[in-house]
Amino acid sequence: MITCDKCKGQCCKTLAVQLETPTTYDDYEDIFWYLYHEGAWVYIDMDDEWWIQFPSKCSKLDKNGLCTKYENRPPVCRKAKLENCEVNKEEIKIIFKNEDDYKDYFESIKEKFEKKKNSRK
Ligand code: SF4
Ligand code: SF4
Repeated sequence: MITCDKCKGQCCKTLAVQLETPTTYDDYEDIFWYLYHEGAWVYIDMDDEWWIQFPSKCSKLDKNGLCTKYENRPPVCRKAKLENCEVNKEEIKIIFKNEDDYKDYFESIKEKFEKKKNSRK
C-alpha cells in the first residue's frame, strides 16, 4: 500500500464534487457543458456515482506534501481512509477528460432514449 509520505499529497491536489446522476436526455447532454470548461474532468465511480474533478491544490498542503492544518483539518479530510484513497484503490469506472471522450458514451445514451421514444409510438 502506498503511504502518504511516499505519495506527497495526491488527494490534496484535486477538487472533486459529486454531480446529480443524470437521468434525462437533457441531463446527459448537460455533461458536455462541464467538459467545455478547461481542466474539468467528469468521471463515473465504481458505485455509478458521477463526479466532476478539477486540478486545484489545497493551500494547506506544504511543499513537502504535508498538511499544515493536520490537527484541525476539515471532516472531509479526517474521514478519508488510506486504504480507500485514489492511489490505493481503483475508484474510477469511466473518465471523460474532454468532450471527445464523452461523445461515444453520449451517442449510446442517445440511442437508448430514441429507442424508448420509438417504442411508445
Ligand atoms: S491519502 Fe492516499 S492519495 Fe492522499 S496523500 Fe495519502 S496516500 Fe496520497
Ligand atoms: S486540509 Fe490538509 S488534508 Fe485536507 S486537502 Fe488540504 S492539505 Fe489535504
